[in-house]
Amino acid sequence: MTEHFQLLIGGQSTDAASGKTFDAIDPSTGEPFATVAEAGVDDVERAVQAARTAFDVGPWPRMKGRERAKYLFAVADLVKQNAGRLAELEARDAGHTIRLAKGGDIGMVISTFRTFAELAAREDDEEPLPRNPGSANWLRYEPIGVCGAITPWNFAIQMAAWKMAPAIAAGNTVVIKPAVQAAITTVELARLCLEAGIPEGVVNAIPGAGSVAGEALVGSPLVDKVAFTGSTEVGRRIMQLSSGNIKKATLELGGKSAAIVLDDAPLDYAVDGALWGVFFHAGQVCSAGTRLFVQRSIADEFVAELVKRAEELKVGPALEPSSDVGPVISDTQLDTVERYVSLGKDEGADVLVGGERTVVEGHDGGYYYRPTIFGNVDNDMRIAQEEIFGPVLAVMQVEDDDEAVALANRSIYGLAGGVWSGDTGRAVKVAERLRTGTVWINDWHMINPKYPFGGYKQSGIGHEHGVHGFNEYREIKHIHVDLGGPSRKRHPWWELTLPRSERPAPGPDTEGPNPGS
Ligand code: NDP
Repeated sequence: MTEHFQLLIGGQSTDAASGKTFDAIDPSTGEPFATVAEAGVDDVERAVQAARTAFDVGPWPRMKGRERAKYLFAVADLVKQNAGRLAELEARDAGHTIRLAKGGDIGMVISTFRTFAELAAREDDEEPLPRNPGSANWLRYEPIGVCGAITPWNFAIQMAAWKMAPAIAAGNTVVIKPAVQAAITTVELARLCLEAGIPEGVVNAIPGAGSVAGEALVGSPLVDKVAFTGSTEVGRRIMQLSSGNIKKATLELGGKSAAIVLDDAPLDYAVDGALWGVFFHAGQVCSAGTRLFVQRSIADEFVAELVKRAEELKVGPALEPSSDVGPVISDTQLDTVERYVSLGKDEGADVLVGGERTVVEGHDGGYYYRPTIFGNVDNDMRIAQEEIFGPVLAVMQVEDDDEAVALANRSIYGLAGGVWSGDTGRAVKVAERLRTGTVWINDWHMINPKYPFGGYKQSGIGHEHGVHGFNEYREIKHIHVDLGGPSRKRHPWWELTLPRSERPAPGPDTEGPNPGS
């Protein structure tokens, strides 16, 4: 029998009020393998109300950070216990190769929950401010309220963890809407939060269409903050919708990251690294190194080796352990990749390898595309400027470090970038000049929940991970206590009502009323 996954609202697994469902499609086969309840506007309202109540009157925001941390550690333990099932579901639903799902995704979910548990346990909710005679001043970090999270399909369970863990660690409640193309592991993770003892209504999961459930969630006046990962285009819409009640918004959007290969790069290592940078998860990664700038003096040798090894990558079904590159998520995404490859050819670029769909024996309906490398690319071509989100690399030659930096920075995006070089000092100088939120030197995709991750330019607003990511889920309150207050006869404000000549002279250190804005 086909497995069915329900919404999680206010601690109850439930079907949609309309009874609607959608099929979960396995991109390795193109076949449905499960059904999922499809949230409509009514369900969003129920979920938001449950999160609102849990925030306004429930125990979660009022708990000590150390207590909340215990629950987050318990979620991490449950994820570990359920690692096999979760990895298999992610492989089937999102098309992650089982190697990636087991080795990367689940480990990352565990470490994300542990990292934010540790941050909550620090209980750094109060912070002194610079001394000022006459008053005491300090900061308090407080949860924001109900957080609406909207996540993409490409790293479904990781994205769910990236949003849920910091939000709840900081004392907020969450309603998460995963992408319909890969929604199942988000619902499963939300259920594990409940199983770990996190109170009802703190974590709610509502798979449903972006145009319906997504819009209702972001537009809800009961939601205080939105956290979104996805395309820059939808990010713009999220900003518009958030403006209704001035929601705080963090946005992690698209990228067109540049990998710079300097002439002193260790060839074998850099070729492997560049391939990993772009073909990891069939290129459906916001931080993929999709533009490669190689120094002209080593370009022929480097590109020849790159093409040879790209040809050797095994494209195959996600559940097959020997697959290096799995399917893309959908037939629509396959069409997009195909359209861009044809556009690249029209623009005058040369396909050096790949450039076509491929059929995997026994999985004829799967959405497979061969790892593709374009040579003879100009950085102004659309294939070098637009996010394709498939296994497609654009290679360009540069004269020196200056030209590499100038071209790398010529992009509307600024998510990530990387430098391959045998000289760390030289690579760091290049890294410092790149206008991106992350730069990897002799590595790629090294995202760690302890370190901030976010984009410059149209790649986003705000950060995920680390203390910076944690603080995106906390309000900052300044508390001011006038130490002399009760001993004075009248509030100093009264002095302002006197004619200037009759006002007492201010002492050298006393602070005056500051009407500010
Ligand atoms: P989207 O940006 O459309 O989707 C991301 C999430 O936003 C999904 O949950 C989606 O819902 C939801 N959504 C869509 N429209 C709205 C809306 N109006 N209001 C609220 N939520 C909405 O990405 P796609 O899946 O369509 O992919 C398109 C392109 O976006 C890709 O080719 C790629 O270039 C880029 N992308 C970038 C990602 C990144 O990590 N930076 C991740 C995914 C895509 P649903 O899909 O369920 O309808």
